[in-house]
Amino acid sequence: MRQKIVAGNWKMNKTLEEANILASEIKGMVADEVKGDVKVIFCVPFPYLVPLKNLLGADPRISLAAQNCSEHESGAYTGEVSAAMLKSIGIPYVVLGHSERRQYFGEDGKLLAKKVDVALKHGLLPIFCCGEPLEVRESNGHEALVKKQIEESLYHLDAAGIQKVIIAYEPVWAIGTGKTATSQQAQDMHAVIRRSLAAKYGEAVANEITIQYGGSVNAANAKELFSQPDVDGGLVGGASLKSREFADVIKAM
Ligand code: 13P
Repeated sequence: MRQKIVAGNWKMNKTLEEANILASEIKGMVADEVKGDVKVIFCVPFPYLVPLKNLLGADPRISLAAQNCSEHESGAYTGEVSAAMLKSIGIPYVVLGHSERRQYFGEDGKLLAKKVDVALKHGLLPIFCCGEPLEVRESNGHEALVKKQIEESLYHLDAAGIQKVIIAYEPVWAIGTGKTATSQQAQDMHAVIRRSLAAKYGEAVANEITIQYGGSVNAANAKELFSQPDVDGGLVGGASLKSREFADVIKAM
């Protein structure tokens, strides 16, 4: 059975005090209300990783992710954070290739392949984001583009490597717009991704890989999205910044 994962991507939001409150509230709600084996991940700004790790303690259901790491191992790269550093502070996951990093920081498939490698080398599990902009969807190029994104950055991995990766499909036109993909659009793309994984790595491997949907997921639409057979969870932006709403999204999984 694939691991179900609901991750909250906080992006560049919250002060430390607000972050502590949000994480504590969600932790309490998860403990009281969430049944089953869904894993929850908070993808938080670098300065909050250690304080939140201390606050969360050894909660088996809630983990932390960084939102990025350097493609370099170490050295003279002012302002960067390495995979080894994240590992050394006990962080298990790293988000790579979010569309905001692709769009505003020029990250491309080749660079992301390097980041995936350095993350895996240091024992971090990548949450690898893919997804098409609106004009590509409108010209019906979305399936080809998403397949290219995963081929370019992931398909150099062997089966043991790819099994450590979580894939997040986030159509760019659905991010922060309130315009979510329909559950059918999400399912169709997740099935395309899984078929591509099966062609490259075999059915058994493809069936073990968690594929999350992201893009305007909220408490009202989560259940319908998560009910799709190839949607194994969500990567949630805005709705992860409100404890009650995010807990309700988790409960929809
Ligand atoms: P929203 O849920 O705010 O649309 O953001 C999605 C996202 O980018 C998660 O990584």
